[in-house]
Amino acid sequence: MDFDLKEEHKMIRDMTRDFAQEVIRPRSEEIERTGEYPCDIMDQMAELGMMGIPFPEEYGGSGGDWVGMHVCIEEISRGDMTLGALLDVTTSIVAQELYVFGTEEQKRQWLIPIAKGKEIGAFGLTEPNAGSDAASLRTKAVLDSSEWVLNGTKQFITNIGLDNASIILAAAVTGKKKGGQNIISAFIVPKTAPGFHLGKRYDKIAWHGSATHEVIFEDCRIPKENLLGDPQRGFAQHLEVLQTGRISIAAIAVGMAQACLDESVRYAKERVQFGKPIFHFQAVQFKLADMAVAIELARNQYLKAAWLKDQGRNHTFEATAAKLFASEMAEKVASDAVQIHGGYGYMSEYPVSRIYKSAKVLQIVEGTSEVQRMIIGRILAA
Ligand SMILES: Cc1cc2nc3c(=O)[nH]c(=O)nc-3n(C[C@H](O)[C@H](O)[C@H](O)COP(=O)(O)OP(=O)(O)OC[C@H]3O[C@@H](n4cnc5c(N)ncnc54)[C@H](O)[C@@H]3O)c2cc1C
Repeated sequence: MDFDLKEEHKMIRDMTRDFAQEVIRPRSEEIERTGEYPCDIMDQMAELGMMGIPFPEEYGGSGGDWVGMHVCIEEISRGDMTLGALLDVTTSIVAQELYVFGTEEQKRQWLIPIAKGKEIGAFGLTEPNAGSDAASLRTKAVLDSSEWVLNGTKQFITNIGLDNASIILAAAVTGKKKGGQNIISAFIVPKTAPGFHLGKRYDKIAWHGSATHEVIFEDCRIPKENLLGDPQRGFAQHLEVLQTGRISIAAIAVGMAQACLDESVRYAKERVQFGKPIFHFQAVQFKLADMAVAIELARNQYLKAAWLKDQGRNHTFEATAAKLFASEMAEKVASDAVQIHGGYGYMSEYPVSRIYKSAKVLQIVEGTSEVQRMIIGRILAA
């Protein structure tokens, strides 16, 4: 058994840590305050090869693996969650679905620009009436000679509003099985397709740098060739890549929690009350100790899930446990970090206040905590 990161993973960690601390962290307050996506940072991440770490070079990637990808996501999220989530949605989910299920033609056309970071992909599963019960989605796709015609609405879609977002991978009903259940297929829908409409931008509690939009397909026409993978297994394909997304959410959570610990240790050593730095009060030190332990456990869990994925082994339990534990841990750590900062922790200029507000979303996206427990419950029941 070897718990050490390999040299290539350490290189990724050190490179992304330096980048996140020097370039991203100082911009985090501005990103949240203005709600403007830091496109210039995204371009730099692309140049450093971060957008396609786990894919072969012939498809625009860096020839790395999923452990490396997630080490990168943790460090980037330690600088700002918005950019960690970019890697999650675009690389772990969209690019992976294109890589695993796409035809050679589709990979050349859509995967390469995304893996190189020239374009961004969005993922469209959730609908107004289909969230946790994603299989009840109502968007329909009908084949009309050489084109698929899509009608329906997707909601809460991350990153589709960005100028360089090129496609959304959308799930749609294409028929019925013998037993009456819907057949769900996956489609590559370019933003430029006729009948594609970018709907409203949602006003969120926090995480303002990441735009979340509604997407409306109104007789939206795409070429027949834009069907992705097996037409009978579109839903299963989406779920398969979401499993990696869950490892990514765990890595984001660990990065955010680590940032809270960094800030809290620094603050506690500087802030003097009752004649000494508050770090020396046991009540404060115990909080810091609990934070450090929880972060390390969550980190070990996401790394194990990513490592199993790299081995081609089943990791449903490990990825689900990583997402559940890390997302709940991040909210608690962020809350304790605000507490350690006292009144200053409630002020927007302090990083812990922003992380506290944003961390909640990690328990909701890509399957709520309840859904993660349902998956684990099913594993226990088997
Ligand atoms: C900021 C943001 C970005 C997002 N980005 C994307 C995106 O890019 N693409 C995308 O497709 N989706 C995206 N989502 C959607 C997200 O995945 C869903 O919000 C999530 O899956 C939950 O669905 P819902 O909101 O409809 O809640 P619901 O499913 O309505 O759940 C409401 C509550 O009921 C609970 N619940 C539901 N069913 C059960 C059950 N059987 N047992 C116990 N409890 C249950 C849930 O856990 C939750 O607490 C995003 C959401 C947010 C907030």
